[in-house]
Amino acid sequence: MAYLPNEVPGPRPTVDDQVFWDYCQQQELRFQRCTACQRFRHPPAPVCPQCRSFESEWVHAPQTGVVFSFTIVHHPAHPAVSTVTPYNIVIVDFPECDHTRLVSNLIDALPEEVRIGMPVVLVWETTGNGRVVPRFKKGND
Ligand SMILES: [Zn+2]
Repeated sequence: MAYLPNEVPGPRPTVDDQVFWDYCQQQELRFQRCTACQRFRHPPAPVCPQCRSFESEWVHAPQTGVVFSFTIVHHPAHPAVSTVTPYNIVIVDFPECDHTRLVSNLIDALPEEVRIGMPVVLVWETTGNGRVVPRFKKGND
């Protein structure tokens, strides 16, 4: 079973992040990087905010990151999550990728275990609408 119930809507790709989600569907985490200045840009965008180049490539992200920040949700803001509170929402940082960050969940941690700076490992889960999303497990210190 996925970390969040199937009734929780999965991502709905837009014209800007369709490629990102297409790679996720293949269980490949890739970030967009500007081919002119080599800076990562996330969320994906058509123009580099650093140098205004339209050129980019999709590079493989590391399989590990660190928790940059997190919250523990106790109050279900949507009926679909009323049975799984408390649950976590983490922001995972990828230092090797200009500190690109993803909002996700840490699927194997109790609320009291989540810590800023803890190492995490990428895993994949399928949401209720069939989209494959990056989630994380506890890594080794
Ligand atoms: Zn650039």
